[in-house]
Amino acid sequence: MHATRRRALGQHFLRDAGVARAIVDLVAPARGDLVVEIGPGEGALTGELAGRAGRVVALEIDRGLVARLRARIPSVEVVEADARAWDYGALARPPGGRALVVGNLPYSVGKPILAALIAARTAIDEMALMLQREVAERVAAPPGSKTYGSLSVLTQLYCDVRVALRVPPGAFRPPPEVESAVLHLRVRPGPCVPLADERRFHAVVRAAFAQRRKTLANALAAGLGLPLEVVRKATTTAGVDPGRRAETLTILEFAGLARRL
Ligand code: SAM
Repeated sequence: MHATRRRALGQHFLRDAGVARAIVDLVAPARGDLVVEIGPGEGALTGELAGRAGRVVALEIDRGLVARLRARIPSVEVVEADARAWDYGALARPPGGRALVVGNLPYSVGKPILAALIAARTAIDEMALMLQREVAERVAAPPGSKTYGSLSVLTQLYCDVRVALRVPPGAFRPPPEVESAVLHLRVRPGPCVPLADERRFHAVVRAAFAQRRKTLANALAAGLGLPLEVVRKATTTAGVDPGRRAETLTILEFAGLARRL
């Protein structure tokens, strides 16, 4: 395949079997579990998964790699698909087992794939996802940190998240220009705070972070198209100083705010 296309598909293959094992160990698949692997590539994680899980479904966009992987590991169901648009909810969780998602994600589409997985969260129990380190840290960032944003809030609302492993470029062939990190996500039974209206909560969080330099009230007024005075009053009633910045608010504070807007 042409080098430009390989780069566009984020084809950096893991060449460190120890790292592959450590990623799979995070979710520890057992015989009763189903694993969906995203972007199996040449199969660095797939072999390890196939040896441990009852069923492995692997989603790969590159037709050449699909054919090679099918020949190499016939027990794995390799599907030629775009992981951003796949219907994760269509796979039934095995009775008594878990539905797991594992993947060394292509960096350019890591965020849309993560968004698709969060949208399908009720069909998933746990995930181990390798992303560009900066993105992984943003997802797991706590309130008050510079990288805390809507990606952190909207993921942590539904999942317990931690950065479990950091992986240097030398673990891949060819080595990427950025560092990588693996997120371990456990899907919660419901949102971590009670929400009156999920769609409104999402809209408020996105508006609050859309203009990070502005105060909370100014960002919300601009993002939601509301008069500043209305926003100031709602913010104060929710017990939040309208002069604060979005990155200082906890998820609970966002929920209180969304209820009053
Ligand atoms: N899992 C392998 C490994 O660890 O060595 C390969 C990881 S490589 C970083 C990313 C893989 O995802 C590549 O095989 C690439 O072709 C595939 N890929 C890229 N975009 C994709 C998409 N939208 N849907 C599914 N697979 C994709």
